[in-house]
Amino acid sequence: MINRAAFEQILREYDAKRLNAERELTQRRALIEEKVPRLREIESRIAEISVNKAIARIGGGPAEDIGKTIYSLIREKAEVLSAAGFSPEDLKARYDCELCQDTGYIGSEMCRCLRERVTEVLYDQSNIKEILKEENFDTFSFRYYAEGQPRTVAEQAVQTAHSFVEDFAVSSDNLFITGGTGVGKTFLTNCIAKDLIDRGLFVVYLSAVRLFDILSDATFGSRRDGTEGTSRESFKKIIYDCDLLVIDDLGTEMVNSFSSTQLFDCINERLLAKKHTIISTNLSLKQIQENYSERLFSRIVDRYTLIKLYGDDIRMKKKLEDWDAARGSCN
Ligand SMILES: [Zn+2]
Repeated sequence: MINRAAFEQILREYDAKRLNAERELTQRRALIEEKVPRLREIESRIAEISVNKAIARIGGGPAEDIGKTIYSLIREKAEVLSAAGFSPEDLKARYDCELCQDTGYIGSEMCRCLRERVTEVLYDQSNIKEILKEENFDTFSFRYYAEGQPRTVAEQAVQTAHSFVEDFAVSSDNLFITGGTGVGKTFLTNCIAKDLIDRGLFVVYLSAVRLFDILSDATFGSRRDGTEGTSRESFKKIIYDCDLLVIDDLGTEMVNSFSSTQLFDCINERLLAKKHTIISTNLSLKQIQENYSERLFSRIVDRYTLIKLYGDDIRMKKKLEDWDAARGSCN
């Protein structure tokens, strides 16, 4: 799972990348200026004309037609550079990402490159890439569900999950996946996550325990050590802004009025922003109402599609199968 330290590490990588690009530019520029002494004269002439133009505009005086002069200076600049074997592009920093110039942000929004980097680290850390190779729609098996209602329900659940993925861009649907231990809730969630990640969407996968750690850290940690507005907030923003937030195992965390409010705020903000969320839990809707709040309960009832899985503990069944297979190979 990603944690704040990992996120801060990514931001440090960005700082290093950006500083490197800028340092490289400074060095390249010094070299170019040495070989093309006329460059600085041209540039200061362009700057001077631009300033005069601005002053004339403010003062209301007649603005001379300087377009031509600037144009010819720019052309001369390209020519002198070219004669020395350079191009105007050599006077710009070479960022990995031109959009954010390696800051990771465009205004207050996270740039796509940073989202991708965070996702990359996120999945490396949680080994989820490996898990998703094993657990996806192609490997989902109904044979662990008993004939009759459990299997029918599982088939419908997979259908709903498929539709969720297919309609992701156009709908604002959310899923509430409930059921006992080992009935395939996490597996089903992984199927969805895999498909959406493959489509380049920004999926954040957090256990409820981690989610509340992060939210509480964003609220109390900043106050504690005076680092308000830093990566704590950015990290919280990821949870609020990602395309799909998966909250796994809701109900395993310590519930108190703080976590209950935080959960509601997160769920509610995401609904308002039309961002998708999946909650997977052993809890029933009635327990959500009792353990958290009436308003959270009503948001889920109104805005989430309910998937309730039945059956035996699949993990246990698989273990028994592996056990039998191992015994078979020993005989
Ligand atoms: Zn970028």
